[in-house]
Amino acid sequence: MREVLKNYINGHWEGGVTTGTSENPSDLSAPVADYARADARQAEAAIDAAHEAFASWSLSTPQRRADVLDAVGSELLARKDELGSLLAREEGKTLPEAVGEVARAGQIFKFFAGEALRIPGEKLASPRAGVEVEVTREPVGVVAVIAPWNFPFAIPAWKIAPALAYGNTVVFKPAELVAACGWALADIISRAGLPAGVFNLVMGSGRQVGRVLVENRGVDAITFTGSETTGHQVLQQAAARRAKVQLEMGGKNPLVVLADADLDRAVECAVQGAFYSTGQRCTASSRLVVEAGVHDAFVQKLRQRMRQLTVGHAEERGTDIGPVASAAQLDTNLSWLEIARAQGAEHVCGGELVERRTRGHFMAPALFLATPEQRAAREEIFGPIAVVLRANDYEHALALANDTPYGLCAGICTTSLKHATHFRRHAQAGMVMANLPTAGVDYHVPFGGRKASSYGPREQGRHAAEFFTTVKTAYVCA
Ligand code: NAD
Repeated sequence: MREVLKNYINGHWEGGVTTGTSENPSDLSAPVADYARADARQAEAAIDAAHEAFASWSLSTPQRRADVLDAVGSELLARKDELGSLLAREEGKTLPEAVGEVARAGQIFKFFAGEALRIPGEKLASPRAGVEVEVTREPVGVVAVIAPWNFPFAIPAWKIAPALAYGNTVVFKPAELVAACGWALADIISRAGLPAGVFNLVMGSGRQVGRVLVENRGVDAITFTGSETTGHQVLQQAAARRAKVQLEMGGKNPLVVLADADLDRAVECAVQGAFYSTGQRCTASSRLVVEAGVHDAFVQKLRQRMRQLTVGHAEERGTDIGPVASAAQLDTNLSWLEIARAQGAEHVCGGELVERRTRGHFMAPALFLATPEQRAAREEIFGPIAVVLRANDYEHALALANDTPYGLCAGICTTSLKHATHFRRHAQAGMVMANLPTAGVDYHVPFGGRKASSYGPREQGRHAAEFFTTVKTAYVCA
């Protein structure tokens, strides 16, 4: 019998009413973990505990918060191989990517350990004699952290670490697909020296547990990463009770390849950006916009490179592309292949299933030649499927790059400084990459997008203070 992973509420580990099991998408015969699903009453108890703990934690010294975050960061870094293996087993990310993600989560905690001692504020002159103005930042209160499955360590880390650094208390709900990763992170945080109630873990579905976190008046701020559909529901419900909201949602990230680009480098950017992490990244460049002069040569090189990619078990040495994370996600990908074909996109290669549902959810990365109005070129797929659009020249490529409802990350491959600089200024995206894959961001700088991709202040880096604190302006006259 496997141990059932428990919820962490007010400093105690608690079972749940029902038990869920997380799968290994590389090997369906070897489930990863059993976990206790919290019910609405337990979610409410976690919110109450966080509310109670806020009074003293919000006044704790920055050094105390820094010590806790530093300890969490150190343990994540020390255990990156073991936790990376868990992540590879539960989500299907290849081992090098998974270990890298855990290390990144560790660095994020360490970064915010430093930020706890650098909480911004300023003193301003007043036009009035004898009056001094001081602008300070205070914690917001109870923060609900609602996370997706595709980055089960890094995304919770970049939400939980700043929340605690700035003096907030936290109720964390991981995605069910990756409950064991969420639990492992919570286990580390629970041992780092926090008073009871400051950090709580509630596992379970969005409809049961997530809904309580969004609707309960005890939650002051909600930081959510997930799909656009869920994000809009969260926003509407939270706005009705005036909770602070931050949403990171989908993307349809363009990678522009100009005729003067180093084609081998551009192909590598496309492969990593579109297909690594099995395309299950909000920053995946599934929309490749290629200038006419190199269009055919680029497609041919990319097809050759895709043939060399090894699709396989996430933990096996030599695997480039791990499995799709779940049966549901695989079905979504298969329906996208149908949609692309039905709308007239030209199939270049890929999309075959490898040992479907006997061993794992393996699918070869797929490439299509598309036109801008086709759905596969406009909507987020969230799998290893990319389309190529032909552009007449740079201006046309820029217009195509911007012609999506999303605005998370945009990339360009070019040797022209003029075009790289122009693109940096005019790409409608929160993040821009020149001669780099759209996926792959640093841990200490702002992360987020524009248009339908994001709502509210940026995550990560010093800009995180915007969401996790509230400004107070004090006027003092001696
Ligand atoms: P999802 O929206 O289904 O779920 C996200 C989280 O919300 C989960 O924890 C889920 O349980 C919870 N949830 C679901 N319904 C809820 C409700 N009614 N109320 C409260 N919580 C609810 O998304 P997912 O399938 O886990 O993740 C994939 C999506 O996330 C993709 O669309 C992807 O683009 C997006 N994503 C975006 C970013 C980004 O930073 N922009 C990063 C990673 C993933």
